[in-house]
Amino acid sequence: MNIELIKGDITKIQADAIVNAANSSLLGGGGVDGAIHRAGGKQILDECIEIRNKQGKCNTGEAVVTTAGNLPAQYVIHTVGPVWNGDEGKCFPLLENCYKNSLKLAESLGIKTIAFPNISTGVYRFPKEAAGKIAVETVKNFRSDTVGKIIFVCFDDENEAIYRELLENNNKI
Ligand code: ADP
Repeated sequence: MNIELIKGDITKIQADAIVNAANSSLLGGGGVDGAIHRAGGKQILDECIEIRNKQGKCNTGEAVVTTAGNLPAQYVIHTVGPVWNGDEGKCFPLLENCYKNSLKLAESLGIKTIAFPNISTGVYRFPKEAAGKIAVETVKNFRSDTVGKIIFVCFDDENEAIYRELLENNNKI
């Protein structure tokens, strides 16, 4: 698995799929969710509404897919991160599920390149260091016949520094 780090705005990334840190309503929100819906246009929201009408809300740790509207990516995979409440035993596996289920969905679509934001580390207040470790470990352990490249898109300096160190250490192993 080829793992890359980019500092910037995930809406600008030309991957087969970008991942959205959505909320369970799937109807848009702030942060990266707001940015994706703003830049991607109404089509993404329309498809999210369709999914909601079919299956109801999206549970924490689960993932659903829409097309990407006006974005340079082909698909948006929407996953719902856990809201941090200090309970590592509950929150750690739920965040791991976000990465796993997004990757499984990507594989089922034959996706080669997928970009992740730092799920749950904004409004949902997950500790960034722990979230970074979970993200890197989970994608590193994912075996796939189709997905060959994963891009971590860090928006803030703190996450960028955390991921840079995690990936440097990772490359040394
Ligand atoms: P959550 O509710 O899962 O915490 P947020 O959107 O509040 O979601 O934050 C998740 C991460 O996404 C944060 O690290 C934030 O800095 C980052 N982020 C915000 N906007 C963008 C963007 N346009 N591209 C990539 N990452 C972004």
